Amino acid sequence: MSSERPAFSREFWEAVERGELLVQKCLSCGGLQMYPRRSCVACSASEITYVPVSGQGKIYTFSTVLKYAPSDFAEDVPYTLAVVTLDEGPRMLTRIVDSDPDGLRCDMPVKFAPSEIHGQVLPTFTAA
Ligand SMILES: [Zn+2]
Repeated sequence: MSSERPAFSREFWEAVERGELLVQKCLSCGGLQMYPRRSCVACSASEITYVPVSGQGKIYTFSTVLKYAPSDFAEDVPYTLAVVTLDEGPRMLTRIVDSDPDGLRCDMPVKFAPSEIHGQVLPTFTAA
């Protein structure tokens, strides 16, 4: 699995390793966005900073992978991928960890809980 990460996302990944979740804030229009990008998706400005968020959110949608995972993730089955709506607004694709997949529901509160998967600390969530 590649661990190549663009330089503009370094601050985000360093925060994840410290247990903090950051989103990008556009200095031109004030919009928040997730995942890290080079420019604002709303106004295209390239002046962007990172701001901390609460790590609280709700499941927008999710799917538990039971079979036929990509080969890099075959040993992780079953695992749950979810889109989480952060309390601050942006949505992010993530994995739900340490939670019974049968107990997950849309709109269910979740909290940021980074975990190490295949040697990398990833911005995962767990049931709140
Ligand atoms: Zn903007």
